Amino acid sequence: MELGRRPYMGYCFSPDQKAFHILVKMKDVPGSLSAILKVLADKVDLVESLSYGLPDGSAVWSGFGRSLSQTETKEALEKLIARTTMVIECQVEESESGIVVDSIHPGIEVSPGRPAMMLPIAGFSRICDHLAKILGSGGETILFEEGSALGQATGRYLNDRIGRGRLDVRIRAALGMYQAAGWGLLALKVEEPGVKYRIVARDCLECTEKSADRKECGFIRGHLGSVVSTLSGEEFRVTETSCRLRGGSACEFVLTLADPGRKTPLVAGIGN
Ligand SMILES: [Zn+2]
Repeated sequence: MELGRRPYMGYCFSPDQKAFHILVKMKDVPGSLSAILKVLADKVDLVESLSYGLPDGSAVWSGFGRSLSQTETKEALEKLIARTTMVIECQVEESESGIVVDSIHPGIEVSPGRPAMMLPIAGFSRICDHLAKILGSGGETILFEEGSALGQATGRYLNDRIGRGRLDVRIRAALGMYQAAGWGLLALKVEEPGVKYRIVARDCLECTEKSADRKECGFIRGHLGSVVSTLSGEEFRVTETSCRLRGGSACEFVLTLADPGRKTPLVAGIGN
């Protein structure tokens, strides 16, 4: 199955039809969610939804739905859901001026304990371009170092979460997480296990705006070098052998073990 980017669960546009954001806290037992979906089936046309468990043994279901009736109200939906078995609490918001927002979740996290924010890719790419344009090589250094610092934090996080199995498997896990989080497709080729890796970014987010003032993607280069060094515990050097800013069809990063046997100095000195 091939799909484009998935919709962002935070608001729903519905200019021609009343829409609701429905949030339900329920007991985390089999059948809870299907009972809720059953009572909503002839009330709303669900457009997006998600569910997740909470540490206290309850679960949350959050969804957007377009009303199947012009006379539907949020109060009536709340009452209907509250009567459903296993429901602990529910809250419904109604669209105004063609939009309804999930105003209950205070934000998103890309994985447990890692809060994140949404920023259009073009915005990130333009910040990189502007830094490099105003500050020249100093701007490129800032981007590389900030990319490295974030890569190290991600590497540490992954080391804690998935332990120390095969390096290529863990690099692929990191790249998959980036892809799911919207960083674009990052394909890994193992040139020599533990020594040399090639990563191809066909839709690299750093050069989306294709600035005429830049020649490399330093943030991503720093990030990939640092995340792989932290995952392996050894220092990897990274060069961007092809870049869309230099006319390449993709950005390509080659990571090479700097000094076999030497532990990475990157592990010291930079916090999370
Ligand atoms: Zn590039």
